[in-house]
Amino acid sequence: MAHVLVVEDDPAIRSGLVRSLSERGHAVATAPNGLDGLRQVVDDRPDVVLLDLGLPDVDGHSVLSMIRAVRAVPVIVVTARDDDPSVVRALDAGADDYVVKPFRAEQLEARIRAVLRRAATQDAASTLTVGDLVVELAPRTVTLEGRAVELSRREFDLLAHLAARPGEVVNKRELLAEVWHQVYGGAERSLDVHLSWLRRKLGESAAEPRYLHSVRGVGIRLAAPDPAPDNPSDTAPDGGSEATGNTSDRGPDGGSESTDRVHDESP
Ligand code: CA
Repeated sequence: MAHVLVVEDDPAIRSGLVRSLSERGHAVATAPNGLDGLRQVVDDRPDVVLLDLGLPDVDGHSVLSMIRAVRAVPVIVVTARDDDPSVVRALDAGADDYVVKPFRAEQLEARIRAVLRRAATQDAASTLTVGDLVVELAPRTVTLEGRAVELSRREFDLLAHLAARPGEVVNKRELLAEVWHQVYGGAERSLDVHLSWLRRKLGESAAEPRYLHSVRGVGIRLAAPDPAPDNPSDTAPDGGSEATGNTSDRGPDGGSESTDRVHDESP
């Protein structure tokens, strides 16, 4: 049983959902508009939110962003069309899943169970440590060398997924399915963008990776950096570029593409 909040302005759909969810043993609360829904998310802390995108007061996408700003509660978006570009937008903005109207009660129930399972896994008290990087799953906090790193929800999910299997190359397709919940692709660009933001927040880049290594054509590997050599002058690369982190002075043939390859999988 879960505490389900239904944010839906259509009274017929709303009461239908209340009936079918209650029959399956859930405690159901409803909100006829976005602001009331948001208030209940904050005050009543539901386990899962069913969010209609077409709401009378505030657009469903804005409601979703506001929910995401305050809580990591699972959100299932309810939409009228499965090819709706707004569904993709909602998933990119942090929705956990979606259902298309009209939907069968069993289908909705399965989606609810799935998002609750994922949320429970994420909530399991656990700390992942990779070198000086510490990822705490329950409070969703990250520290690097003892300093807090502020991450967005998606950046955190991406990092946590990689940190669960340190040293292993994680396939991009798996990341798209597990972190973006997009089995059929479509978020590759979003993955690349979030990866680059994550790198920046960890103080590294694709050209100068420390923890996050792209393995071309395969995926991404999170691993602790090698310990600093006792005598750095013995091993400093030509030009000492690691001291400045500046790639702009390498000239046209020394761009980040070739640097990436050299750093990534050389033994
Ligand atoms: Ca509506």
